[in-house]
Amino acid sequence: MNNIVAIVGRPNVGKSTFFNRLIQRREAIVDSVSGVTRDRNYGKSEWNGKEFSVIDTGGYIKGSDDIFEAEIRRQVELAIDEADVIIFLVDVEEGITPMDDEVAKLLRKVTKPVLLAVNKVDNSMREKDALEFYNLGLGDYYTIAGMSGSGTGDLMDALVKLLPEAVAPDENAVALPRFAVVGRPNAGKSSIINALIGEDRYIVTDIAGTTRDAIDTTYNRFGFEFNLVDTAGIRRKAKVKEDLEFYSVMRSVRAIEHSDIIILVIDATRGFEGQDQSIFWLAEKNRKGVVILVNKWDLVEKDTMSTRDYERKIREELQPFTDVPILFVSAINKQRLLKGLETAVEIFENRKQRIATSKLNETMLPIIEAMPPPALKGKYVKIKFCMQLPTPTPQFVFFCNMPQYVKEPYKRFLENKMREIYNFSGVPIDIYFRQK
Ligand code: GDP
Ligand code: GDP
Repeated sequence: MNNIVAIVGRPNVGKSTFFNRLIQRREAIVDSVSGVTRDRNYGKSEWNGKEFSVIDTGGYIKGSDDIFEAEIRRQVELAIDEADVIIFLVDVEEGITPMDDEVAKLLRKVTKPVLLAVNKVDNSMREKDALEFYNLGLGDYYTIAGMSGSGTGDLMDALVKLLPEAVAPDENAVALPRFAVVGRPNAGKSSIINALIGEDRYIVTDIAGTTRDAIDTTYNRFGFEFNLVDTAGIRRKAKVKEDLEFYSVMRSVRAIEHSDIIILVIDATRGFEGQDQSIFWLAEKNRKGVVILVNKWDLVEKDTMSTRDYERKIREELQPFTDVPILFVSAINKQRLLKGLETAVEIFENRKQRIATSKLNETMLPIIEAMPPPALKGKYVKIKFCMQLPTPTPQFVFFCNMPQYVKEPYKRFLENKMREIYNFSGVPIDIYFRQK
């Protein structure tokens, strides 16, 4: 289970400075491995061995002073819906502003844990200035300086205490695939879900979350049993229209983190857009399987655009993660939706496949011998042995004499070979080199 922490607060209190501090250590490692550009508003962090994701909910309203109450409300609603713990940041330099009052009013009604953090407490003089924040009616607070990191340790200690404990998976239970249908507003997510599962009569059980609200529902359709992870964006559709990319994408965070396979729905009449890219990136970053459904294919003039052209264009956008199934569907005509479901199940199987060490070495070592890593500074890397790690997503280790001399292109080469030989369609895989 992934925990999500949201940082809320008006502009300029220091949210992004604090956010960067939280994700720094880990991100540097993760991103150099995957080569994925880093998101300014979403990342992974860890404290005392507990992992969590962080959302800077102010990502959209950067730096503007004349933001509206509606904007703040939206930011807080995002946090309330998507997060397990909320950190409310205020600024000791400015003191309590009307907008802080506004946020506090919203947060006082929340049942989720809220931590009040008074930022920019750079020295002990400012400690007593912080006292006024008791007036926000949120109880005790933490004084921190996001810039230097002072005080953040205590805040983090309190934070991880509030995060629900990871529940050990039930050994006897058959793990059902967990799917999340995500995509931009109006892409046709609800239509696809309705076409696939019809009305509620197909619901098998409701699985109540441990300490959170239930977001999984089990279905049995077309011979497949699976869980559908509810997307807040769909659930609260009637209430708000998330037209801004930031909110729209962040609305998917929870669903993506709680599922195994992402069914990414694209509107064929609009093409693969920035928002789709961001969602795809979120899925990759979380090592989830992905199938792309290009919906509303009934609306596309087939003379002007063939599936082949369309598919090629999308794959260009997906670089370097191109081994992803792309299907052209229509929710209205119920075309190829079943194929979409089948593909999602197949990706689930691909993602949990285990390749025996002997078989892996039999196939990979001859390839490596025929095409060894290029010599670097006169050094010859010898890869002697490889194996799959017992991780939930496919990870492979190649043991060699000088791992530091194996560069990205060779890693790509090995990954592509493995994708040719084994079926990892739709599944991110990781390759590491270790000293032996
Ligand atoms: P955001 O709009 O809430 O994301 O705020 P930023 O993180 O962009 O910070 C706004 C300003 O406050 C920047 O000029 C930061 O350098 C400054 N700032 C952030 N944290 C601290 C801090 O701990 N102490 C001081 N003195 N300034 C800070
Ligand atoms: P959501 O916001 O992603 O859940 O999108 P909806 O399922 O509510 O669909 C948005 C609009 O697109 C609705 O008017 C649907 O009737 C329409 N729509 C959805 N799928 C299709 C499709 O395959 N073909 C056509 N022509 N319209 C579709």
